Amino acid sequence: MKTKIIFSEKCLGYGYYHIEGPERVRRAAEILKGFGYEFLEPKPASEDDLLRVHDVDYIWNVRKGLVEDPDTPAYDNIFEFARLSAGGAILAAKVGGFSIMRPPGHHVGISGAALGAYTRGFCYFNNIAIAVRHLDKPTLILDIDGHHGNGTQEIFLGDEKVTYVSLHRHPNYPGTGIFHEGNCLNFPLPPDCGDEAHIRTLDRALSSVDVDRFEVVAVSAGFDAHAGDLASLGLTGKGYMEIGERIAKLEKHTFFVLEGGYQGENVGKDIHTLLRAIS
Ligand SMILES: [Zn+2]
Repeated sequence: MKTKIIFSEKCLGYGYYHIEGPERVRRAAEILKGFGYEFLEPKPASEDDLLRVHDVDYIWNVRKGLVEDPDTPAYDNIFEFARLSAGGAILAAKVGGFSIMRPPGHHVGISGAALGAYTRGFCYFNNIAIAVRHLDKPTLILDIDGHHGNGTQEIFLGDEKVTYVSLHRHPNYPGTGIFHEGNCLNFPLPPDCGDEAHIRTLDRALSSVDVDRFEVVAVSAGFDAHAGDLASLGLTGKGYMEIGERIAKLEKHTFFVLEGGYQGENVGKDIHTLLRAIS
């Protein structure tokens, strides 16, 4: 059975001149429709869902649009866009699907910019964290975006139900994720290291966790590690296929939430390549 894609056209309604713009997701959705995936429409996350991750003052600031930083504009109605994207992650978690909703989420922490980062890196609510807390089961979060998910680490550091594993480019924004910290295992990689080095490191990362402990695998699925993208690790389709195979081998309830990836053509194809190995 093919993995279901979570998407609403509503997420294309902002940010036309930003690198995190609608075209990346519009094109990815078009490609995935062409491959025959079933699409599901998400509902906005509830206030209770947001409160399981973010503090009340931060949620209020997003609602009021008081969240402008040099990377992350305070767009009109961004609260509604961000709430719907978080709802997409929750639906993906429930059905074992892949949410391609935007905005992304893994850089935003409990009350905004996380672990000393100077911006929220295009993120408003931490979608994957909201979905993981919604399910509330022992979860392995695997973050394959080319950037470190500093927000996700801040949220889950010390949480006994969750282990966070991230492979990311270093040095790069946000500058965190250089060392392991408690239940957050970080594997920094040099720019454009290529498929082979990445997969070798992924194997090492997965062998360092006790997979039997987890009921759920939540994948922060960014594609900006694709060769030539914003946080390139030199990955190609072959790399994403092997990542998919490694995830399939874990044999857990698995869901995916889109993070970065700024070339829609590659994002759509990489998602299909990854999912072909799963379903
Ligand atoms: Zn990224």
